Amino acid sequence: MKTALISHPDCLLHDMGHAIPEIPERLTVIDQAISSSDLMSQLQQYVAPFATKDQLLRVHDPEYIDYIFMSSPKTGTIPLDPDTWMNPYTLNAALHAAGAAVLGVDLVMTGKSKAAFCNIRPPGHHAERSTAMGFCIFNNVAVGVAHALEHYGIQRIAIIDFDAHHGNGIENIFLNNEKVLYCSSFEHPFYPFSGADTISDHILNIPLVAGTDGKDVRPKMQEHWYQRLLEFKPEMLFFAAGFDAFYQDVMSDLMFQVEDYAWMTREIIQLTQESTQHRIVSLLEGGYALGGLGDCVVAHLREICHLSRK
Ligand SMILES: [Zn+2]
Repeated sequence: MKTALISHPDCLLHDMGHAIPEIPERLTVIDQAISSSDLMSQLQQYVAPFATKDQLLRVHDPEYIDYIFMSSPKTGTIPLDPDTWMNPYTLNAALHAAGAAVLGVDLVMTGKSKAAFCNIRPPGHHAERSTAMGFCIFNNVAVGVAHALEHYGIQRIAIIDFDAHHGNGIENIFLNNEKVLYCSSFEHPFYPFSGADTISDHILNIPLVAGTDGKDVRPKMQEHWYQRLLEFKPEMLFFAAGFDAFYQDVMSDLMFQVEDYAWMTREIIQLTQESTQHRIVSLLEGGYALGGLGDCVVAHLREICHLSRK
């Protein structure tokens, strides 16, 4: 059985301009790196559908969804916040990005795919119930998690978020939902300046000082996440897969290497595989160093393909 690789051409048409690094070429370099890797024979490509309004309503307020639909410009770009802009194609891209998460869950839950990786943008983990921010409009991971919980009746889902920035949106949406164990590592103090003070037994944040490298982060993850992940026994595993902690990425001061992404992915999958039965959905979040982003994603995806293959 193959791993699903999900994307949509509209995700390339969302372009914010304004010297913002969240650019269409991110998806292109990832696509090229995957295409020229040894993974292609293990992947099945899918085109992401639109997320429906009902699927978005599980995690976003109705007024917010209406506001996003009404904000879509006919020409030019308009700001939702200083970092987050819409052009005429952004709404469709955002709906396909969230829809990719839903399709990923459907493929994994119906046994058509062993796992899924979504090469999509705009990213999602900063989007809160009613706030667009940090390049994010709809919270793609949250839409996928809510679909698994509500449509398939999954009872426990773990989300591993190794993006360099705290996933304030995922925390905001699932703060009072104990079916979700959210594990996030991020540079602190740093944008969005949240997460370091959160006290919750199902939100496990690891703030990292600038300059932290992969060797430093490994024991922190083992100390703060492993025991809880084992106790929680997640039935499904999501990755909010941001690659901006990579040492070449100017969007953070963290110093992760390609092999750190392989290590994190392998460790977490192996640790949880008895309860997850390899039900894994990973979605692209950040990652802006175009020279290394493809290698990071391939290292992550290789572990998913390898460990999901049965
Ligand atoms: Zn980030």
